[in-house]
Amino acid sequence: MARVYGANERRCDTCGAPIVPGLAVCNYCRRAYSGAPPGPKCPKCTAVNVAGSMACGRCRSPMARSCIFCGAASPLDASACRHCHEAFAGAEQRKQQREAAYKQQQYMQLANTGIQAAGVVIASGAATGLLDSVGDLLGSIVDAAGD
Ligand SMILES: [Zn+2]
Ligand SMILES: [Zn+2]
Ligand SMILES: [Zn+2]
Repeated sequence: MARVYGANERRCDTCGAPIVPGLAVCNYCRRAYSGAPPGPKCPKCTAVNVAGSMACGRCRSPMARSCIFCGAASPLDASACRHCHEAFAGAEQRKQQREAAYKQQQYMQLANTGIQAAGVVIASGAATGLLDSVGDLLGSIVDAAGD
């Protein structure tokens, strides 16, 4: 007959102490409960909780880590975000790399837009005035630097 884990009548197989729902290891004899896959240790009270626990079965401390990509909470023993499935290993570096790549992309887009805009100005015949004012600007910079 299958017994439901966490039911009130369940007791530790080894010492007979009542089982704390959510914990994977007996509080008293420190033996792992049968049928409870051990997961993360509570950072506060060090109780071993069952795999996938989001809060400690003993002290109720939250045991979740938040994803730096989407902000969703996942259990401490999860190897990847439950929400966006990004792996936690090396997440910080990946995020930085992606941000750098994104900035690069934005910069390239801006540069392209600038080149296109310049092309439009030149095509419309207003280039001479634009080039003159750029020349003036450069001249004043050179003058300023020469002082
Ligand atoms: Zn026990
Ligand atoms: Zn705890
Ligand atoms: Zn995520």
